[in-house]
Amino acid sequence: MKLRVDDITAEAKEFSFEEAEAQVNVVLEREPVREYRIEGPISVTVSYYRAGTDLFFAGRLRASTKAVCARCAEEFLWPGERAFRFVLAPKAVGFAGETDLHAEDLEFSLYEGDEIDLSPLIREQFLLSLPTRPLCADECRGLCPHCGVNLNLAECGCAAESFDARFAALRSLKLRRS
Ligand SMILES: [Zn+2]
Ligand SMILES: [Zn+2]
Repeated sequence: MKLRVDDITAEAKEFSFEEAEAQVNVVLEREPVREYRIEGPISVTVSYYRAGTDLFFAGRLRASTKAVCARCAEEFLWPGERAFRFVLAPKAVGFAGETDLHAEDLEFSLYEGDEIDLSPLIREQFLLSLPTRPLCADECRGLCPHCGVNLNLAECGCAAESFDARFAALRSLKLRRS
């Protein structure tokens, strides 16, 4: 999705578009462990305006995303949503010595020419929205480290045993202290 720089004025405008998911999936497939896959285009609503030569963007994106839980290895639908905000400054003007400061800041980028290509910026924002450890639920109990049973679906004997073992260790600790 491209915007003409001349069409970005001091008056804020808003529009919605869909960003194709294919290139994001290419990036996700490069990960050593494939944890996410987008199931459809990224829906984006963005408002934008300019202040001098700086261009301001703010909006929301949403994409139906399949994720693999880091604890139980089950696939689940992750609500891929993110509010974003970024500023683009013209490359020609630069940051007058502040380059190092802004290089660290992902929300600050440079633009060049008379068009803004929002697509790579939206893809980056989507990737930033992904938690490093996807969990199907905060309380996901994961897999038993001994027998591999999904503890969300079934109980196994090992869990109770190891719990008892830990508890016994705690009890002996308390005894020694008193
Ligand atoms: Zn899980
Ligand atoms: Zn087990």
